[in-house]
Amino acid sequence: MRKTITSLSSALLIFVASFSFTTVAKSAEYFSIGTGGPTGVYFQVGNAICKMVAKIQSKDHGRKKGTEKALRCSAPSTGGSTYNIGQIMEGELQFGVAQSDWQYHAYNGTKPDKVKPFKKLRAVFSAHPEPFQILAGKGSGIKSWNDLKGKKVNIGNPGSGQRGTFEVLMENHGVNKSFFGSASELTSSEQSGALCDGKIDAYGYTVGIPNSGVAQAADGCGAYIINLNTDPVKKMVADNDFYSWATVPKGLYKTTSSNVTTFGVMATVVTSADVSDELVYAVTKAVMENLDDFRDDHPAFFALDPKKMIKDGLSAPLHPGAIKYYKEAGIM
Ligand code: GLU
Repeated sequence: MRKTITSLSSALLIFVASFSFTTVAKSAEYFSIGTGGPTGVYFQVGNAICKMVAKIQSKDHGRKKGTEKALRCSAPSTGGSTYNIGQIMEGELQFGVAQSDWQYHAYNGTKPDKVKPFKKLRAVFSAHPEPFQILAGKGSGIKSWNDLKGKKVNIGNPGSGQRGTFEVLMENHGVNKSFFGSASELTSSEQSGALCDGKIDAYGYTVGIPNSGVAQAADGCGAYIINLNTDPVKKMVADNDFYSWATVPKGLYKTTSSNVTTFGVMATVVTSADVSDELVYAVTKAVMENLDDFRDDHPAFFALDPKKMIKDGLSAPLHPGAIKYYKEAGIM
């Protein structure tokens, strides 16, 4: 009896020892993806990626060697594109969603007053198109860019992509903030409420379509998106690969009674050359192998196509971890 107890306890000891060995060796790697406002589409992109990473991890469970790390992904709401790029540069975020124009300017250092030059910025893939939309309040009388003169306009919070793009739009039209009656800096989750309450007459927002924030004002209080095809916009699109023409289709919102023409950018997922090849490879693989889940997550993602995702809207070099996966999967 005594012998049995001794051998039982030593068996238990061996079990405990091997169990704790596995736990120590398989420590988790935490990483974060910067998104945008909670009512935007970037928030959906970041959280869709985390879900796909979690899915691939649970599928791999049991096949993993004890030394492989478990990946723990989070996708917090943030200020938007230029904030995300800045935080990746600081090493505070490992990934972020950013507009194609701000990816270009950060990598090339061409708008240092709006986004810090960042040569180590790397592209992972592009996601959905984002038309730049000027939403005008019901009864504001705003029909075109020139009608914004003297009006209360929300140009977006610092750190957001739309804020930077709105400022570029102002520069190209040869105006500054004094063109407006007032220029506010509300976040994307505040602007529709302000528009419906009459605190502002219009706002500018670069966002995937459809978007629940825009719907709040368009379907909720009669706000409408105006055409934006002035000569300066035509020149912006003609001169820069990171802009293209975009259409907000008739019927998308209650007040979209005909197709709206504007310019747009691509939403892209970026990282830093300092982030490991292993992590970028694992995230890229999780996304590309679960694209159907991604497409189902939001109507803005319906057209995701790997061949386009590895080139449209990308101006920073692809991260080597992403390239490794694209070559392996025959996408590149
Ligand atoms: N394009 C916006 C930005 O860069 C964010 C849009 C969104 O949250 O979907 O800040």
